[in-house]
Amino acid sequence: MEYDILILGGGPAGLSTALHLHQLAPHLITSPQGTSRILLLEKAHYPRPKLCAGGLVADAEIILEGLGLDVSEVPHVDASAAHFDFAGKGLTVSVPKRHTLRIIRRDEFDAWLAKKAENRGIEIRQGVTVRDVQPDADGVTVITDQGEFRAQVVVGADGSNGVTRRCVLPDAPVHTARVLEVLTPARPLPGPPPFSAKMGEGRVGVAYFDFFPVPAGIAGYTWDFPAQVNGQPMRCWGIYDTNLLAHKPRPALRDPLAEEMARHGFDLSQHELKGHPIRWYSPRNPVSVPRVLLVGDAVGADGIFGEGISIALGYGKLAASELVGAFNTGDFSFSGYRRRLARSALGQTLFVRWAITRILYRLHWTWFQKWFWRFWKPVILAFSWIFVLNWGKRLKP
Ligand SMILES: Cc1cc2nc3c(=O)[nH]c(=O)nc-3n(C[C@H](O)[C@H](O)[C@H](O)COP(=O)(O)OP(=O)(O)OC[C@H]3O[C@@H](n4cnc5c(N)ncnc54)[C@H](O)[C@@H]3O)c2cc1C
Repeated sequence: MEYDILILGGGPAGLSTALHLHQLAPHLITSPQGTSRILLLEKAHYPRPKLCAGGLVADAEIILEGLGLDVSEVPHVDASAAHFDFAGKGLTVSVPKRHTLRIIRRDEFDAWLAKKAENRGIEIRQGVTVRDVQPDADGVTVITDQGEFRAQVVVGADGSNGVTRRCVLPDAPVHTARVLEVLTPARPLPGPPPFSAKMGEGRVGVAYFDFFPVPAGIAGYTWDFPAQVNGQPMRCWGIYDTNLLAHKPRPALRDPLAEEMARHGFDLSQHELKGHPIRWYSPRNPVSVPRVLLVGDAVGADGIFGEGISIALGYGKLAASELVGAFNTGDFSFSGYRRRLARSALGQTLFVRWAITRILYRLHWTWFQKWFWRFWKPVILAFSWIFVLNWGKRLKP
């Protein structure tokens, strides 16, 4: 089957690419004869599970608004503030007159976004697993469990474990974080000490990040977000480790998470723990080969927090513009994609976050982490506001 554009993977990066393409160049979605020029292949069926805490920062909402989409249609919980902590002290951030973090469930969010894309005429084929991606001088052959597809260009949007990157850039360096996540009821069930229903009460409605595991060699943090599942209030806990201190002796990744949950009255052993890697961005990584572009986690998410939904939506906007340029000129080399990504508002925030990741987690001593989170509040807030957040408004296609 022949298409002009094949998008491999229907998470936020792939769906954002398709939706932005529809916005920028609807003629690339459907031919004058009414046939599809673009096809998105997704291995699962919506609503499909995706391990993710579902925290949407304002930039994600800004990009969705630019597409005429209102994410409040998706079931969500709003966190009024985000608290960043190290060993009991830290700083609280809240955005004036609005929520600080909106928390969705990814099965619901991705299914909603896919429905919006289908409503705009984008063809999505679910239940198709890509096995191999073979670019050549005239196009790309994509081999799947349901036969072969051929296209002028391919967008690799198949996430941190995706096959596209492995096929087209097998030797590219990877920076992969380890992540564990667990869902619990909003309040702990009564239990023997240290687990108690009274504990954990004070944290309702606020998103918590605690960097206490850093001196132990976990280059990351534990989190505790409010959440909802089928309308029931829940909490989403997890631990993130960039692996930057992998040379140090480290505890098992679940141990600091169990410790943090116990401090708030929850018993990790009573809940199902799941893990998934996150590939994080490095400016040195290649992002395309002729006829194949990568987007989302296939390139890399934010290294500091592993925040990748807004980032994936942003990659989609840039990739759509690259595709329009390629079809206008007939040059499918994508040789300028990496440079344009680096110069964009998305590339700038990713670069700053990459630099902070390397500094913040490498300076792992207790004294430094204490000093940083307790006394640098104005600097952290101003720096984040200018260099880390608010890039969504500045992202031009
Ligand atoms: C535990 C955890 C917690 C997280 N919490 C947050 C958070 O709170 N906020 C935040 O912003 N980010 C968070 N992230 C990161 C975020 O989930 C990712 O950055 C984001 O999902 C990237 O989007 P994507 O579209 O690039 O990839 P994905 O969302 O992974 O989508 C890839 C899609 O491709 C499909 N696919 C994969 N392989 C194939 C194949 N061979 N054939 C066809 N289809 C395929 C998959 O089924 C999937 O639908 C978290 C990640 C983890 C692991």
